[in-house]
Amino acid sequence: MTESLNQIYDLIIIGGGPAGTTAAIYAARANLKVGVLDKGLTTGALGTTSKIANYPGLAGEVDGAELLNTMRKQAAAFGAEFINDKAIGTDLGGEPKAVFGNLGVYEARAVIIATGSMGRSNLIKGEAELLGRGVSYCAICDAAFFKDKDIAVIGKSDEAVDEALYLSRFARTVHFFPPGREINVSQEELQNLLETPNVVTHQGSVVREIYGDARVEGIRYGERGAEGEESLPVDGAFVYLQGGKPITDFLQGQLELSAEGCLQVDRENQTNIPGVYAIGDVICTHVKQAVIAAGDGAIAAIAAEKWLRGTSKPKVDWGK
Ligand SMILES: Cc1cc2nc3c(=O)[nH]c(=O)nc-3n(C[C@H](O)[C@H](O)[C@H](O)COP(=O)(O)OP(=O)(O)OC[C@H]3O[C@@H](n4cnc5c(N)ncnc54)[C@H](O)[C@@H]3O)c2cc1C
Repeated sequence: MTESLNQIYDLIIIGGGPAGTTAAIYAARANLKVGVLDKGLTTGALGTTSKIANYPGLAGEVDGAELLNTMRKQAAAFGAEFINDKAIGTDLGGEPKAVFGNLGVYEARAVIIATGSMGRSNLIKGEAELLGRGVSYCAICDAAFFKDKDIAVIGKSDEAVDEALYLSRFARTVHFFPPGREINVSQEELQNLLETPNVVTHQGSVVREIYGDARVEGIRYGERGAEGEESLPVDGAFVYLQGGKPITDFLQGQLELSAEGCLQVDRENQTNIPGVYAIGDVICTHVKQAVIAAGDGAIAAIAAEKWLRGTSKPKVDWGK
């Protein structure tokens, strides 16, 4: 992945799961300048899946992250640029439209939202109350506040591991709490985490509470499924857990949502703002499968290309 700042694209895709990556394949192959903003390979639904066997063209079972990586390489070979960054805001009404990331601002004439539905609705006890007062979701934004302090990082995706490693350059000790026994990263990344001297990994422990009066003072954690709890004093808690809710927080109400929080689209996957599309699990298709998400991606990319070129009739892409 490259890291590019302040670029102007024809199309920015937020989310590089099967939906966003398929859109990138179609759009880049149609000669659009495409940027795909994604916060981590093992952060979305496909990337977190250990085995997938029903995606067409697979002989046997493959690891979800491996399948996704192959899709991303295909998109990159057509010229799509993958940017390892997290979208934290948007301005979709302007011309060009803007997507704000932790690392920069990305401008484009059209935007596709493909962030999936791994957002959380259940917060850890104390998390909401102490947000901004020691609880954070962004190491780049807040690491410097924790120089020589002890902090906790809670999560098991590559986003969580990347952030923990970044924080280890500032903090005295990073206590890493992956829920469950697995950490969903490559062997190399795992090794890197385990060998970083000031990172302590608490595998199998679940954080039950982040506590403190005016600021974070510590966390309470225990063994999964077991009685008993331990307390660990920390000054900060960085949370990167996954759930089952459409991820739309970064849109700050700019697009229409259903009562369940799903983005609303027409038959071309266009939202209520022209030139802005939504695809995959974030639109809550009643069948949530990788092949359906990929199909959505193809529809939106073809529609976006048509919209960008100002043509009224869709062309059928029979393959060049
Ligand atoms: C445990 C499990 C098992 C499954 N098994 C199967 C199966 O066997 N077969 C099958 O077909 N389907 C399976 N699915 C469903 C399938 O994985 C999903 O339907 C599919 O991945 C949805 O694709 P998507 O691109 O919409 O979202 P996702 O795959 O969730 O991808 C979303 C992407 O958006 C990125 N993202 C999110 N927020 C931001 C942000 N703010 N900024 C930047 N990037 C962001 C994430 O990093 C992620 O890469 C399974 C799902 C789960 C959870």
